[in-house]
Amino acid sequence: MEKKVRVRFAPSPTGGLHLGGVRTVLYNYLFAKQHQGDFILRIEDTDQSRFVEGAEAYIFETLKWCGLEPDESTLHGGNYGPYRQSERKDSYKKYAIQLVEQGQAYYAFDTPEELDAMRTRLRTEENPSPQYDHTVRMQMRNSLTISDSETKILLSEQTPFVIRIKMPVGETVRFNDMIRGEVSFDTSTVDDKVLLKADGMPTYHLAVVADDYQMKISHAFRGEEWLPSAPVHILLWKYLFGLDAMPQWAHLPLIMGPHGKLSKRDGSKYGFPVFAMNWKDPKTGEQTEGFRERGFTTEAFVNLLAMLGWNDGTEKELFSLDELVQSFSIDKVHKSGAKFDFEKAKWFNHEWIKTLPVTAYAKQVKSLFAEKGIVLENDEYLEEVLSLVKDRCTLLADFYEHSYFFFKAPREWDLSAVSPKWNEAKATFFTSFSKTLLSINDWNAAALENLFKQLAEQAAIKPGELQLPLRIMLVGGKFGPTVFEIAQLLGKEETSERITAALYALAQEQ
Ligand code: GLU
Repeated sequence: MEKKVRVRFAPSPTGGLHLGGVRTVLYNYLFAKQHQGDFILRIEDTDQSRFVEGAEAYIFETLKWCGLEPDESTLHGGNYGPYRQSERKDSYKKYAIQLVEQGQAYYAFDTPEELDAMRTRLRTEENPSPQYDHTVRMQMRNSLTISDSETKILLSEQTPFVIRIKMPVGETVRFNDMIRGEVSFDTSTVDDKVLLKADGMPTYHLAVVADDYQMKISHAFRGEEWLPSAPVHILLWKYLFGLDAMPQWAHLPLIMGPHGKLSKRDGSKYGFPVFAMNWKDPKTGEQTEGFRERGFTTEAFVNLLAMLGWNDGTEKELFSLDELVQSFSIDKVHKSGAKFDFEKAKWFNHEWIKTLPVTAYAKQVKSLFAEKGIVLENDEYLEEVLSLVKDRCTLLADFYEHSYFFFKAPREWDLSAVSPKWNEAKATFFTSFSKTLLSINDWNAAALENLFKQLAEQAAIKPGELQLPLRIMLVGGKFGPTVFEIAQLLGKEETSERITAALYALAQEQ
């Protein structure tokens, strides 16, 4: 029988989620959904020294914003909990002990000073950071070099110890990566990683294997940076649970920035976001910008992430989440690094702003306006405004400059664009226009334009000469969509009032 598909995203709560992390979430999610499987979120917090307040909540909020909700997690529950590794602490030690008993791991009692002395002694130019490996282990204080009875005494005296894997010498570890094909490692090049720490916590290496087993994970997708750890994980699977139970691995390609691997620093350096949402480091106060706050729609963000390292083999670039669930395939993910291009990211956003119903992002626009001090209360009006200007906006933040004047009458006008050609006849025209338009029954752009042309003809002024002044009266400057459409949305009274106010300012100017 085929194993049920169960995948996991296993972040350590150490800070905000960058593009690579959210892409890992996305690929896991897509794979789970297309196989009617389960998507699990497991918090890997065994390294308490790296724990950052607020990071876990941030991860959940990001997943929610992206629409990539897990089926099982600390928040969503599930049958395989707890989903936070620190709460599973007691479940790991037995595996480390089992490995010692099987001769595949050992107790190491070396003090920090002894470890430092070893590194100092062995450091050379070719080997600047000596590792605790098969060439070194027999020179250290561990259960391989001291007798069983001495080990027992040290343990009974509560001497601090760690348990290390005993990496075999000269073996080849192979596995089939769903993206890379066969990958192999020479075990002699890998150090004797710590599996259980002195505080009784497992390291990531032991915990990831134990939890993937206990949570019945069928496929494990993670970033390429974990590839060097794979031989340790494979051996742990072999020693503890058997390779048949092991999940299928896929190591996702790195995301590249303008120079090498995309880093948090690239964001501030080149002015683009690298995190999903704004993140403020509680320790340093450092703020990292997010795609959400920069004005990306969820749909565009998810779409551009999917394309960072994958395409369906055609020219198609715009995919909704549902379409991605249909088309995505993990074995089509590229092996080489995926280049992040912010201009391309903006293109995705522009396309999605045009395509989506404005209701999909109205709430986000509202909060962007609120940040600038404009509180939007009338949803219907907001949606009409957004529909009118959306084709001009690349980022949701652009809605502000393209539409703030719908919510705030201008107090200043670019009079220099009007004054030089201003005259009495034009003033009379606008005075009459602002009054007459109040009597239009069926208020719309076309009716208003008709009236405008009719009055212009009567006044013997070319309508073309009057349109720019009208625009400046309504919005304050030489910008905005078609002027009659602006007026249609503003409504009769507001349009009339804005003309009157601007006429007054022009009169003062003359
Ligand atoms: N806890 C690891 C991380 O923070 C997860 C690696 C994995 O998925 O195995 O990235």
